[in-house]
Formats: sequence, structure tokens, C-alpha cells
Amino acid sequence: MKMSNLFMPTIRELPSDAEVTSHILMLRAAMIRQVTSGSYCYLPLGYRVLRKVEQVIREEMDKSGALELHMPALLSSDLFRESGRWDVFGASMFKLKDRNDRDMCLGPTHEELFTDLVRSWIHSYKNLPITLYQIQTKFRDEPRPRYGVIRSKEFIMKDAYSFDVDEEGLDISYNKMYKAYCAAFDRLGLKYMIVDADSGAMGGSGSQEYMVLSPIGEDDIVYCDKCRYAANVEKATFKTPVVPEQVEEQTMEKIYTPGFHTIAQISEFLKVEANQVVKTLIYLADGKPVAAMLRGDRDLNELKFQNFLGCADLIMADPYTVRDVTHSEVGYAGPVGLEVPIYADTELRGMQNMVVGANETDYHLRGVNLVRDYNVTEFVEIRKAISGDACPVCGEPMQLTKGVEVGHIFKLGRKYTEALNCTYTTADGKEDTPIMGCYGIGVTRVVAAIIEQSYDDDGIIWPKIVAPYHAVIVGLGKPESEEMRISEDIYTRLVDAGVEALYDDRNERAGVKFKDADLIGIPVRLTVGRKAKDGIVELKYRNSKDVRELPIEEAIKEIKAYVKQD
Ligand code: ATP
Ligand code: MG
Repeated sequence: MKMSNLFMPTIRELPSDAEVTSHILMLRAAMIRQVTSGSYCYLPLGYRVLRKVEQVIREEMDKSGALELHMPALLSSDLFRESGRWDVFGASMFKLKDRNDRDMCLGPTHEELFTDLVRSWIHSYKNLPITLYQIQTKFRDEPRPRYGVIRSKEFIMKDAYSFDVDEEGLDISYNKMYKAYCAAFDRLGLKYMIVDADSGAMGGSGSQEYMVLSPIGEDDIVYCDKCRYAANVEKATFKTPVVPEQVEEQTMEKIYTPGFHTIAQISEFLKVEANQVVKTLIYLADGKPVAAMLRGDRDLNELKFQNFLGCADLIMADPYTVRDVTHSEVGYAGPVGLEVPIYADTELRGMQNMVVGANETDYHLRGVNLVRDYNVTEFVEIRKAISGDACPVCGEPMQLTKGVEVGHIFKLGRKYTEALNCTYTTADGKEDTPIMGCYGIGVTRVVAAIIEQSYDDDGIIWPKIVAPYHAVIVGLGKPESEEMRISEDIYTRLVDAGVEALYDDRNERAGVKFKDADLIGIPVRLTVGRKAKDGIVELKYRNSKDVRELPIEEAIKEIKAYVKQD
């Protein structure tokens, strides 16, 4: 491709919401263009990258035995009503009506569609197992679209669904996907971590996420360097803390703490450590008030708490409920005399002489002790894991990091096959429901994740496998000059040899050409300058500072070999 013909509308003014590197570089390098909030157009260079990322994923899926098909994005409400998800998706689903007033939506995910397809076709256990997939556009009305294509309202996902006769079969299908994902992300050059993930209160027996480690990640991950345990903080567990040695119980006393209701204020006022102050949080679990107790310096893991309670809905109680339950203003809740179920974090087991809210506005209690002063319904691990927590497997201190979720594999169970009445006949003639797995990769998000891990001050550094072009030939000379004639000749020879080459034939200064080549991240640059008349050109790889002079023939040979090698 000659750059004089390339459609590359690089922009000067970045939109104010472009905060992260990948978003900034994708805009500056004319890979994408924002159309509206959370929706992007892929420009020619970006689209080449996207198609290559898709292709790597497709090849690994195909190798695993999964079969590709393509579903519509415009869906009727029927199947979602059958599964019960029409209402569950709430505002995140784009809903619309057709001209006959029928409810339609733009698919946020396709479990129902694949289950419907499979139920229309399977009769017998002989039809199973099967794994189907597609690479297709998804729509989610994200409350906070941001970071460019990392979280957009319209994005491309590779979604796969496996159907098996039993758990053992599901394990096999799941492992195939696990391996296929590793192979795809390895080939794409991503540094990732596979973490245990939450599989939800509503069934599902196991789930893992592929996280690309990055400070901009929206997911917190804990991991152990020693034994490789890694989990999303939402799911993470840790070694149960040892019960502290018991000391003498103090007498309980009520203290006037006017207007002090944050942990910091209380610990400062009473001159005690924040870990001696225990907070009591009032929640509504499917509308019923419950209390969660944890150390003042800890955070509640709401998802874990919800999973433990098995409720569909868990929200922090409104001030009205808090007043009703604690007989005080918000900020003074405590366990003594509280008449709702109390779930205490496992860390509180054996904790003595604590400071808690008094269930009376402007008062706290100190010297509070379990059994004598209050009781708990159950001790549950409900606090969020933090750096330094003991690994649940080997006990070593764990570390905290951030990740961008690029893929998710999930043992889904029979939720959808049961809801949609998808059945088959077993070997002994009975009727049974297949067990499902579902597996997603955020294809467009992967493009951004690659950049987040591979750039420098000058621009993107594409790994060769997804680079929009392999090589750029920079001709430095006036139009019609000897340099440009030689450049064009080298370009033609490389293209003929199957190299995806760009030829910068524009009548621009050398600086502009080099800057653009760096910005758009082409892996290898061949510069044809003054010495070209003597048969010498310059070769430079994007990921290195070295510039080498070498004879034209050798440069061509090296580029050809570079493109071929894995
Ligand atoms: P997230 O927690 O980031 O919202 P999710 O868990 O809801 O994602 P899944 O339903 O597991 O997403 O979808 C599979 C994959 O699709 C995710 O791993 C992610 O890579 C990608 N993805 C999800 N939502 C978006 C989005 N709004 N924009 C771009 N990619 C997305
Ligand atoms: Mg997910």
C-alpha cells in the first residue's frame, strides 16, 4: 500500500475523555475514530489489526474442534423471556420495537440463541458433545463506557458455547477452551494471568478469567508468587486467620461520640487502632435487612456476601431502613441489641474488647465482647482480600495487582438448557438436559490490551502477528528522484514476495515520515536515503533503537526472513 493512497486521518486534538494510552494511541494513529459515546469506527489500519486478532482467535478455536457460525445481533424478546433474562438485563440491554410493535433487542450475549439452536437439532446423546462459536458484535448499554474500545457499548466478542451430556464431558470441553485461549493469547504476545472468577449465585460450577495485567485494569486480582494461586478479588479467598490469644475482657461502656461516625474519626477520638473498631453495615438482601460486621480497616466483598446469602439482590440499606433497624442515625450501627441476622467476618472470630456503634445516635460502645454482649448468626469470609493476605493454598503472603479482563471461561451448568427445555435422549432411552459451558473473548478489547502492553513515547509497537503491515519502506527523496525509484522497486519486490508492505511515497520531510511510521507501529522500517545510489539502505526494527546500514539485497532478504519466521 502506498501511503499517498492510505486513508489515515491522524488527529491533532484528542477528545478530553481519552485518558489511557491505548485509547490515545488508537485515535492518534488513526486506528479508530469515535462515532458517539462508546461506539467506534475501525479505520483501515485498525481494521487490519482487528481482523488479524480475530483470525488468531478463530484459528485456535477451530483447532480445538469448535465450529464457527454467525448469529444475528437483532433479536426478538421471546427467548429472553423464556430464560427469564428479559428483565434481568435491565438498563444494560438495548431494547427496541419493530414496526409491528414486537419487543426486540440488540444481543448483549447469546446463551439463549445457541441453546435454542441446539434444542432444535439434538435428539440423542450421539449428537453431543458440541461446541459452537461466533465472532460477532455485541451491544451493552454500559453505564460508564470508557477507555475507548476497552469498554464500549458496541464491541466484538468471540462467544462460544459447549453442550455436553455430563460434568465429565463439560470438564473436557472447558479444558479445550482453556488451552485454546492460552494458545491464542500467547500467539498475540499478551502477558496475562488466569484467575479464579466468581461464577455467580445462580449456578455455575467454575469460572476463570484471562487478565491482562495493567495499571488501568478495572479488576483487582490477588495472586501468590509461590504456588501460582490467582483470583479476582471478587472471588478470592485466603487462609483463615488464626484466632488471637485471649486477654481479659473489659467491661462494656458507652461513650459520647458526637458527630463522629467514620472509622478514622472514632479511632482518632478514642485513641485506638482502626482494626479495633468494628463496623456494622446494614444491607437489604432481597428486601430483608441483614447486618455485616467487619474490621474497620476492611472492605466488604459484596459479591461474596451475596453469594453466601444466595439472594438475587443485595443493596446497602437506605437511611430509612437503617434508622428503623438501629433506632439511630446512619453511622452508629452496632451488634449489641440488633435484631436482624448478623454475619461477622471470619477475622472477628475471637476478637475481644472491640469498639462498635451503640445503635444510638452520637454514641459508641467500647469493651464489647462476643457472647457476653452480642451474638452472631454466622461467621463468614466476607471481607475483600488485600495485599499481604495469606494464600489459601500455601499460606505465603499474596500480592495485589490490576487486570483488564480479555477472556472468560465459565462452567455454566444447566441453567439455560433447563429454562429453554433443551433435551436429548440418553443411551438408555431417558430424557436428559445437556450441561453447558460458555466462553467469551473481547476481541476489540484485546486490540487495546495489546497496545497497553506494547508502546513507547513514539507510538504503538505492534507484535508482528497483528501489525497492520509488516514493513514500511520510507523513501527519502524528491518525487521522481533516484531514491524514490529504488524505494518503489524494493516495495514492489517485497509485495511480490508476500510481505505486507507500506511504501511512504508522500512528499513529506523525513521527520514526518519517521514519526508516522513509529506512531502506527510498523515492526520493521527500511529507509532509502542518499546512500541508496551506492546500494546501501537502513534497517530499523520498531522495538529497538538500532539502525543498521546494509546492502539492498541483504535488507530485502532479512525482511522476507523476518516475516516468515514465527
Ligand atoms: P466486564 O466485567 O469487563 O464488564 P463481563 O464479565 O461483563 O466484562 P463477559 O460477559 O464475560 O463480560 O464477556 C466476555 C468478554 O467480552 C469479556 O471478557 C471482555 O473481554 C469483553 N467485554 C465485555 N464487556 C465489554 C465492553 N463493554 N466493551 C468491550 N469488551 C467487553
Ligand atoms: Mg466476564
